[in-house]
Amino acid sequence: MNAFTRILSKLAFSGDDIGIDLGTASVLIYKRGAGIVLHEPSVVAIDTNSGKVIAVGEEAREMLGRTPGNIQASRPLREGVIADYETTERMLAQFLSKAVGRSRFWKPRIIVCIPTGATDVEERAVRQATLAAGAKAAYIVEEPLAAALGAGMNIEGPQGNMIVDIGGGTTDVAVLSLGGIVCDTSLRIGGDKFDQALIRFVRSQFNLMIGERTAEDIKKTVGSAYITEHNRFLAMDVKGRHLISGLPRTVEITAEEANDAMREPIMAIVEAVKKVLEITPPELAADIINNGLLMTGGGSLLHGFDLLLQDELEVPVYVAENAVACVALGTGRILGHMSLLEKTKARGARRVL
Ligand code: ADP
Ligand code: MG
Repeated sequence: MNAFTRILSKLAFSGDDIGIDLGTASVLIYKRGAGIVLHEPSVVAIDTNSGKVIAVGEEAREMLGRTPGNIQASRPLREGVIADYETTERMLAQFLSKAVGRSRFWKPRIIVCIPTGATDVEERAVRQATLAAGAKAAYIVEEPLAAALGAGMNIEGPQGNMIVDIGGGTTDVAVLSLGGIVCDTSLRIGGDKFDQALIRFVRSQFNLMIGERTAEDIKKTVGSAYITEHNRFLAMDVKGRHLISGLPRTVEITAEEANDAMREPIMAIVEAVKKVLEITPPELAADIINNGLLMTGGGSLLHGFDLLLQDELEVPVYVAENAVACVALGTGRILGHMSLLEKTKARGARRVL
């Protein structure tokens, strides 16, 4: 290889395209030819005096709820799709340069996934944030399509597939067929709401203030969507600040209590899935009864969520093998066949409002 071809091959490699799962809880970056090259929480820490970004990702997450007055750690995507446009853009730019480096000479083409419920304004904001963060071109793909592809589904055939993707801030429910979304809904309820429900429960039950990270810890340790004889009496110690004495205190919370506390947001998701099934054309519904429904996203890892859905819907329910990475892996499959991009454009889906 002479110097010239070496430069050429380097250019060809660095020109490789990128897929981003811009989630409300975490961002994953997929690089063609390399796989997932970044997986970090969607958190940014900013110095409010200088306006400078101090840290992004895991480093910033560790600062959540622990920052002195002049530092603000926040999740720019949490409530909506892009709650804070400018911070989202800065976060993306930092992640991109961390994952693939920055170069004056090339800019990647980037596929970004957003929830199906995103408004046009939000979609434009994501596109602009991606371009501003250093993309040559930005393509937007709806999350359930990427999730299905990432889980290895064949979505191009005429059979019906159902995806329930539970993220931090949103849940996407979609029935797919012939490479498109046939009917869907998206709700702004996800794992975050389970955490908030636990915070409220611990406060009202024990007069104890706990932070979001502690709540998430409870959810992952003893949290369950489905109580059985095996987990009913699981319990863990929870530390927080007692509201009356103002002092640190420890209480015990059981799986049953956690389940009660999270019931409302969990059932809201179950109801949304039911509503989508109700408007699913009968032939596709028959496929779903046969093939089942696939859960993806971090929220699908809540213990027993699959069992609860199976019970409520009477269809088989599976959790994807790589539930958290499905969407990013799906962007990877699309990058491998840019022609898939055409096929994964949404086309007039029926939507539950
Ligand atoms: P997003 O796509 O919005 O970035 P993710 O798919 O990364 O979200 O999912 C994040 C959510 O999944 C968070 O609310 C997190 O607490 C939750 N989660 C992750 N692992 C588990 C687990 N083992 N049990 C319950 N919830 C989990
Ligand atoms: Mg997601």
